[in-house]
Order: sequence, then structure tokens, then C-alpha cells
Amino acid sequence: MAARASPKVLQNLPYIVRSLNSSSSSIVTAVPPLSLPEKADDEAVVEPVVTASSNSVLNLDEVDKLFSSVSTFQLLKSSLNLHMAAFDPFVDLGVWVMKSGLVENSIFKEIILRTVKYTFYQHFCAGENVEEAGRTLQRLWDDGLRGILDYGLEDATDNESCDRNLDEFLKTVETTKLLPPSSVSFACVKISAICPISLLKRVSDMLRWEHRDPSFHLPWKQETLPVLSHSSPFYHTLKRPEPLTTTEERDLQLAHQRLMKLCQNCLETDLPLLVDAEYTSVQPAIDYLTYCAAISFNKDENPVIFGTIQAYLKDSKQRLFLATEAAEKRRIPIGFKLVRGAYLSSETQLAFSLGFPSPIHESIQETHLCYDDCASFMLEKVARDSASVVLATHNFQSGSVAARKAQALGIGKGNQKLQFAQLKGMAEGLSYGLRNAGFQVSKYLPFGPVEKVIPYLLRRAEENRGLLSSSTMDRNLMRNELKRRLKAAIRGGQVDKI
Ligand SMILES: Cc1cc2nc3c(=O)[nH]c(=O)nc-3n(C[C@H](O)[C@H](O)[C@H](O)COP(=O)(O)OP(=O)(O)OC[C@H]3O[C@@H](n4cnc5c(N)ncnc54)[C@H](O)[C@@H]3O)c2cc1C
Repeated sequence: MAARASPKVLQNLPYIVRSLNSSSSSIVTAVPPLSLPEKADDEAVVEPVVTASSNSVLNLDEVDKLFSSVSTFQLLKSSLNLHMAAFDPFVDLGVWVMKSGLVENSIFKEIILRTVKYTFYQHFCAGENVEEAGRTLQRLWDDGLRGILDYGLEDATDNESCDRNLDEFLKTVETTKLLPPSSVSFACVKISAICPISLLKRVSDMLRWEHRDPSFHLPWKQETLPVLSHSSPFYHTLKRPEPLTTTEERDLQLAHQRLMKLCQNCLETDLPLLVDAEYTSVQPAIDYLTYCAAISFNKDENPVIFGTIQAYLKDSKQRLFLATEAAEKRRIPIGFKLVRGAYLSSETQLAFSLGFPSPIHESIQETHLCYDDCASFMLEKVARDSASVVLATHNFQSGSVAARKAQALGIGKGNQKLQFAQLKGMAEGLSYGLRNAGFQVSKYLPFGPVEKVIPYLLRRAEENRGLLSSSTMDRNLMRNELKRRLKAAIRGGQVDKI
């Protein structure tokens, strides 16, 4: 769609040109590079770069309004952290240090953990325990944002670790009762923390085989919604799986019960639950458990439990349609969190190692397109009141397109069935822009001891690397606001928030 280039857009042109020169920036990949206007005439195609001028819903040009609640010190600190996280040699060094034997040495370990704590940890995490996380949440709430507390947990290997992890999840849900009402929008759970990962793999194998051969009988299978489509990858299950043993069936029953208990607590606390999506090797079992719980708990207007769809998967759109259609037929209110997906390299490596194509879209453009299509599909359901969606993305383009579509569909800004979410420390400009436009916005707040969240921090560093990440947009917005405040200070004018 073409939009007229306004003077503001012309001012942004150096940034647009710089962005377009990088081959796959998430902000610009939706535009073929050749669409860059030769000269900035009235008909210049500028839509893929989000600016106030090209988007009346999400105003990102007025950086003073965007960061009005952020102190200059905080803005400087965030900007510095994002620059460090985007500096490849620094990230490479960090990854090398974390994976090297240096962390085995207690003195080095102490130094490393302290350094991490006062830099990336503070930027991306909410605190070491639930009390610290509660204080972070209170600050967000004061800023007009809500929080999703996410305790950093390891994958479970046996029933004991599953039970311990469940206790942590329940404790987190319980804590929200002490926080300002409505300041927490969702609880979240990683199924691999409450069901042994080996069992999730086995159950996924059986579900895949059953999908291919409906005569393959699964005596333990409960009522659920479709978890696979005809385009779902099948290479994880190359031979007919052995039936579940009695112990496995019992363990699966225990996993069901843990999830049910968590749902029950969430229902009583009036806190919906988001289930994270993980690897394709275990996702069918995760969706199976999620949909079983949805059938039991999603009874009234709003869903208690939400599944997650990863739009980077080639089969995601079909699975979303199938599950939503089946839920509609059963009159179950369905809810999805929509993400792009975080396990790109491991998914591709596994598929290649088995001699199969990656389950992930061939190009990032296809992922962007799929995300926006799935978002659009869900927004139409929200407008008809038949589903709920959490658009979990840092992508300014997707956020802006969804905001515009929501407005066009007449979805009221206070409608709880549409929520946006970003991780703490990521896409702050987008979070504040959506908040200013009146949408419900939450930040994911991982918390836990520094040592436990290191893998999470490494993933964030990977995601923020270089010019190609969505943090580029954030760094630009922050820089613009810092420049504005500096100019105001030099001029002797009012500096709002030093
Ligand atoms: C609130 C919240 C909850 C989340 N929960 C989950 C979850 O449950 N499960 C999960 O897996 N992830 C989850 N994520 C992470 C998410 O999947 C993404 O990793 C992250 O948000 C980046 O995607 P984006 O939409 O922000 O888009 P962008 O900032 O545009 O990032 C795009 C990224 O997509 C990747 N990518 C996707 N497809 C391709 C492709 N075909 N070729 C090349 N690169 C590609 C690239 O790595 C690129 O960095 C969550 C994120 C948020 C904000």
C-alpha cells in the first residue's frame, strides 16, 4: 500500500535508507529493497517503515510522549545495554565466556555473575526473587503497562523436578494476589517444566503416528483439539512408536493433573495462563495437554488457558485454523499467544541432521507474512468475540499493522481479548507506542537467580545482535529522545525527567 511521504518521513529518510541497506532487518524486510524511492516524491512508498506519518494509530515520531515516563538515567542505561547487546564482538565474547570453563572457577564465576547482574540481567530480568519482581512490576504498572511473571525454570527430567517446578508456578500465581489488582495480566508456564521432556517426546511421536494412521490406537488419549495438520513435519517419528508403558501412562496422567491444578489456581485468581511453545519434537504433546485443559477450563466468555503458535513454522497457519475451527464448533472460547518462534537454529539443525528440510519458512519475509496473516485471522475472531489473542512481538511493523487492523475492525482499546506483549528490555518504543494508543500492553518479566537465567540472557543477546534486530528501532528512538532532552537542557529549557 502506498502512502504519501510527509515532511516527517523525509526527515527520517537517512534512517530509512540506512535500514534498507541492511539486507534483512526485521523492520524493513517486508519491503523489497528496490521499492526505495529514487527521489522522495509525493508518491514514495514508505509504508514498511513505521513512523507517525505512515501510521496514525501508533505514533512513534513523538519520542517525548513515547518515553515520557522514563527518566534520562534509565534511558541512557537502556540505550547502553542495547548497544552492547547489538555489538557482535561483545556478544561473541560473552557467549564464549559463558560456555568456557571460566565459570567453573569460583572467583571468575563471581566476577562474571556480578557483571551480568548489573548489565544485561537488570535490563532483561525483573529480579532474583518474587519480591524483587513485584517491585519491577509495580514500576511498570505506574507506567501504564502490565506484567507477566515468568520464573526461570529448567526442563524437568523426572516427576520430582516436575512437582518442584509446579510449586514454583503456583507460588508465582499466589504472589500476584499481593500485587496491585490487574497489574499482572497473565501467568505463564513451560510444559517441559511440569512434564518430563522424554515423555513429551514419546507422546508427540504417538500423536504424529496417529495423525498419519488413524487406526493407531491411543488408549490414554483424552478429548482434545487438532494438534497437527497435513503439512506438519513428520521426520521426528520415522518408525511406528511402541505403546506407552504403564509407568509412562501414569506419568502422563500426573502431567495432566499438574496442568489442571495450575489452571484451577489461575481460575480462582482470575489470571489467565499462557502456555509457552517449545521445540517441534515436543510441541504436539504440549498442544495436546493445553487443548485438553482448554476443553475443561475455557467455559465462560474468556479463555483460562492460551496455547502458543509459532508463526515461523510452515504448518503454523493451518494448525491455528484447525484448532480455532474445532474450538468454535465445540463453543469453547479459544485463546492464542502468537509469536514468531525462538528455536530457529536448533530446529533447522535437527531437520538437516535427519536429511529433511527445515520446518521453518525458507525466508524471514515468509515468517513476517505468516505472522501478520495469523494475527489478522485472530483479530477478526476477536472482533466477532469468538477468540482472544496475545500478539507477542517486538516487530514494530507487525505491531503497527495489527493496531491499524484492530482499529479498522472496531476492536475497542479496552477489549481484553486483544493484548500485546513484549519481553522486558525489548521493543520499549513499541510497548509505549501501543500503550499511548490505548491498547493493553504487557511485558514478560523473567525472574530468578542470575545463574538460572543465563541461557535466557544468551538468547536475548543473540536476538539483539547487529543492525538486523528489532532493537535497532528501539535504539534509534531512544537516541532521538536523548538528543531532544540534551538540546532542551542546552537551550536552558525544561528537561522533563533527568
Ligand atoms: C511476550 C513474548 C512471549 C514469547 N513466547 C515465546 C514462546 O512461547 N515460544 C517461542 O518460541 N518464542 C517465544 N517468544 C520469542 C519469539 O518467538 C521471538 O523469538 C521474538 O519475539 C522475536 O520475534 P518478533 O516477533 O519479536 O520479531 P522480530 O523482532 O522481527 O524478529 C524476527 C526474528 O525471527 C527469526 N526468524 C523467524 N523466521 C525466520 C526465517 N524464516 N529466517 C530467518 N529468521 C527467521 C529471526 O531470528 C529474527 O531475529 C516470545 C516473545 C515474546 C515477546
